Amino acid sequence: MDIKKIIFKFALQNAVKYEKADFKAVVGKVFAEVKDVKDKKALFKEVKEIIEEVNSMKMGERISKLMEIDPTLIEDKPKEEKKELPELENVKKEAIMRFAPNPNGAMSLGHSRQAILNWLYCQKYNGKYLLRFDDTDPKVKIPEKDAYKWFEDDFKWLGIKPWKTVKQSSRLNIYYKYAWELFKMKKMYICKCEPEKKSKLLQRGEKCGCEENYNWDGFFDMKEGEAVARVKTDLKNKNPAVRDWPAFRIAEKSKHPLDNKTRVWPLLNFASAIDDHEFGITHIIRGIDLSVSDDRQKYLFDYFKWKYPETIYTGKLYVKGVKSTSETKKLIKEGKLEGWDDIRTGTIMSLRKRGFQAEAITNFIKDLGVNRNNIDVDMDNLYAYNRRIVEKCNRYYFVEEPKKIKIKNAPKLTVKVHLHPDDEKRGFREFKTGDEFYVQDKLEKGRVYRFMHLFNFMDGKFLSKEMDEKLNAKLIHWLPVGKNLVDVEIKMDDNKIKKGLGEEGIKKLKINEVIQCERNFFCCLQEKNNKFVFWFTHR
Ligand SMILES: [Zn+2]
Repeated sequence: MDIKKIIFKFALQNAVKYEKADFKAVVGKVFAEVKDVKDKKALFKEVKEIIEEVNSMKMGERISKLMEIDPTLIEDKPKEEKKELPELENVKKEAIMRFAPNPNGAMSLGHSRQAILNWLYCQKYNGKYLLRFDDTDPKVKIPEKDAYKWFEDDFKWLGIKPWKTVKQSSRLNIYYKYAWELFKMKKMYICKCEPEKKSKLLQRGEKCGCEENYNWDGFFDMKEGEAVARVKTDLKNKNPAVRDWPAFRIAEKSKHPLDNKTRVWPLLNFASAIDDHEFGITHIIRGIDLSVSDDRQKYLFDYFKWKYPETIYTGKLYVKGVKSTSETKKLIKEGKLEGWDDIRTGTIMSLRKRGFQAEAITNFIKDLGVNRNNIDVDMDNLYAYNRRIVEKCNRYYFVEEPKKIKIKNAPKLTVKVHLHPDDEKRGFREFKTGDEFYVQDKLEKGRVYRFMHLFNFMDGKFLSKEMDEKLNAKLIHWLPVGKNLVDVEIKMDDNKIKKGLGEEGIKKLKINEVIQCERNFFCCLQEKNNKFVFWFTHR
């Protein structure tokens, strides 16, 4: 192997293991393999350049390159010390926490951050977990009828066990009751001003003239677009968004899937504050972008003399390439996505079908920790967590777009190949081979190839059986031509389908089982009929 190749393979190995290749580590390995380095300076320069190249590669690309050169060089990640979540403040008897999604689509990775952090804290403090659907928007972010169940299914899969599950849309009378009290207390009024005019006045901290309109009787007679009920706060509050915020509005034609009759709907800030009190929430994990909610809701807590929960803020989690709920909804409507579980969406539902493990997602979220910075991550980051778990799955041959080749003088062989190279106890796959094979790679003339676990050949002629470093053979996978092979289709993350043949052992797999297609990638079985349909997990 020439020296560049050697540097390249160790740089890859180091980068796969530690996310970034380290100069010293790579040089050390190169010296150990190449004993007679003459020009050290030139070597260092070469190492530097190659490391730069490798570090700029995506994790998927690094792994597939390393798989080509030498799959045995792929090592597990170093054991990291366990990251602990920061303690919650002021936990008295117990922590009561909630996760409050709007079910206007399926659960996303973004959702999962709050969902999981709350759950981890509830476990840490032996607390109670409320799953509350904030579904009181019948106009813009309208709930999906089935999304309630999707969330509950994803919760089950993630292992989150709520103490209670409630829908705000079935608690409207409770919100009305508190509105009634606020009218009595002269802390809520009906404002009939044009929204734009009102907003300008609020910006300037000025009254509109509706402020004494404590007309409970008019509450249910408000007309859409003409009136809203506002909570009286302080027109001098430094943040105009906190001044006399709207608490109820009218939707004449509710598009709510569970309630198309109600006209008077609470806005998020009102319903959320009331429920945080009603369910005795002690700690809230809230996106830093919603910190204004605290300032608004604290007025209600003051009026009713309630204690405001402790708030822990987190920044936003952006996962590159994953679409937002509203974007996904739009694309489904336009027929550009097949549904909420489309492989391109990145919803928890779709990740499940791709073979992601709940434990991987939980660890990923836990390690992101609790902090106020916005976090930008790649799917590659999540892949690394999942890989650590699915690495233990069984291996099989899948030959994409198989090309039939004949190898002259190939001996008739029966070979046993381990289901997993590091776990011999799991048993073997057995192949009986003749002189006809299916291959995926485009074979070059004059190049030596080695069929994994089988033999070496060149230009369609058998060379030798044993592994031989001197041949510098390219390792490829194969299938023996025969009747026992199965038709395989693999849905990739861009929704394209790879078609090919798989080995007989695939017949025994169960739905949702993850396997590694040797030299290719991990994938998860979704259908088994006359053909076997897998979803791509990652490389
Ligand atoms: Zn007004």
